[in-house]
Amino acid sequence: MNQLNIRALFPSDDGNLQQREQFMGLVKQLMEGVDALKDPESVYLKGEKDRGSHFYRELTAESRIPVAGRPLEQVNEELLKLLHGHPYHTKYFLTNILPMASTPGILGMLAAFAVNGNNLWDVYGPAGAEAEVRVVAMMSELVGYTPSESGGYTTWGGQGAIFTGLRIAINKHDPSIKKAGVPHNLYAFCSEAAHYSLFKSMEATGLGTNNLVKVRTREDSSMDVRDLKEKMEQVIRRGGVPIYVVASTATTDAMGIDNLAEIVEASEEIAAQHSIRKPHIHADSALGGFFAFFNHYDFAGNPLAIGEETLAALAAIQERMRHLHLADSLCFDFQKLGQTPYSTSLFLVKRASDLKLVDLEPDETPYVGHRGYGDYHTSYTLECSRMGSSISILSALLAFGAEGYQRLLAQFVEINLAFRRRLSEELPEAVIVNPDNPGIITLFRIYSDRKNGFAAECRGQRTKAQIQCENRLNDMLFETLGRARGEMFFGDTKKHLYVRTADGAGDIALYAAKLFVISPYTQLSDVQAIVGFLKQKIEETYAAYEALAKKEKEDEKAFVEMELV
Ligand SMILES: *Cc1c(COP(=O)(O)O)cnc(C)c1O
Repeated sequence: MNQLNIRALFPSDDGNLQQREQFMGLVKQLMEGVDALKDPESVYLKGEKDRGSHFYRELTAESRIPVAGRPLEQVNEELLKLLHGHPYHTKYFLTNILPMASTPGILGMLAAFAVNGNNLWDVYGPAGAEAEVRVVAMMSELVGYTPSESGGYTTWGGQGAIFTGLRIAINKHDPSIKKAGVPHNLYAFCSEAAHYSLFKSMEATGLGTNNLVKVRTREDSSMDVRDLKEKMEQVIRRGGVPIYVVASTATTDAMGIDNLAEIVEASEEIAAQHSIRKPHIHADSALGGFFAFFNHYDFAGNPLAIGEETLAALAAIQERMRHLHLADSLCFDFQKLGQTPYSTSLFLVKRASDLKLVDLEPDETPYVGHRGYGDYHTSYTLECSRMGSSISILSALLAFGAEGYQRLLAQFVEINLAFRRRLSEELPEAVIVNPDNPGIITLFRIYSDRKNGFAAECRGQRTKAQIQCENRLNDMLFETLGRARGEMFFGDTKKHLYVRTADGAGDIALYAAKLFVISPYTQLSDVQAIVGFLKQKIEETYAAYEALAKKEKEDEKAFVEMELV
């Protein structure tokens, strides 16, 4: 009988050369396979993949576990086939916050996988515990928390951080809720431009999404703090209690940055006036928090010789980010601007003691922790077992250093500024609708008369029908760009700003296409080609839109004639 040597499926236990070379050979096969699929001129890896309408159904029908295992080289071939036609972060990858995993980020993961520790408890995963404590201290110091008082851990995304912030907020309001369940008069607040994570968290905690109050945004997509105050007052007048405010620093679409200093001040004022506890304030810094790397930058001396315009943009962002330490909790999605693989999100709390509020009693964790041995047991996380993703984060922090992150972010901002400049010069039809948000994202919107209708929309001078018409044109642009995404991959949003309508038909969101500078391979010299490509696609969109308008007019005429007959 041809028996598989099961041990050959594992790394060695003694560090022998033969097994290591076999392992390295397999890694080499994979990496060579990926490299063979790369094409710097395309946003996709090479290879055929027919993702027709029955793709997933067919997979479901075909996929069964093989009875006999296959040689690892063959399995590798199968894995490489998965990567065919996969998006890849080349210079024209300009969509959303989907970064490349950096080499130190990947190496950190490999180090974690090599021992496969469980980050739940330092007895099982001491490497993860050590790395976690180190990165929590590093990032705490960066934002201005006191490392000896703050706490934190890696978790399931920026969404997980928002969720845990809410759990803490609920238990701060009343620790007995842990046992008794949530009452229905507790309210959370975020801006209209906030990520939907809080919406989901309201559902998942049982508070209900009706108890989420959306605060108006200003034109720069930041929270209108006067509206926050008014809405908190309203809630209190109706017998509700504001317990949680999520400040977006920054938003995922426009990179609008809420003013934490104002939000904290307003929350404290309301709390004092009504003799309630100040709501827990979470800074949703999943994306934008990385600009805190400029908190200690010498803007006057400018040691990295960053260009003047870029420096001014970075200073404007840092002006908001320097308030991050005022938040009770916050988050760094290292899988976003931290350049590490998924999932590497770091949740931080200003006071580690807040985690006690969501911790378990010793008799509820019979297997682990609360022993004479082991000092680090994360029984306050919603997860039980946890991967040691902090090892990847630590690796990236050590390899990039503050300067590496500063350089990379400055590069992204510089390219975005160059794009905006060129777009305004060469393609004024594409109106930049987040002009007051410096950063790495540009939102642009086109209008049927090829003029700039944005100011009028913001002032509430357009009817609902007019805005819907312009949104439809932009939707057609999304489709045109989407079909051509193999060449250049743009993003888009159907929820940029909410604006008032001239006919009093309620508020309506503006659609906008999106350029997101996220690949380290996008260079200043690529900006011209990017704007040229957009020019062509926007002309195609106008042509299609006019053809459609003509056809609709004809149809209407035919219909009227029919009525007359
Ligand atoms: C990405 C993002 C989130 C969600 O983070 P995940 O890591 O995807 O869970 C929440 N808020 C903001 C502002 C984000 O950019």
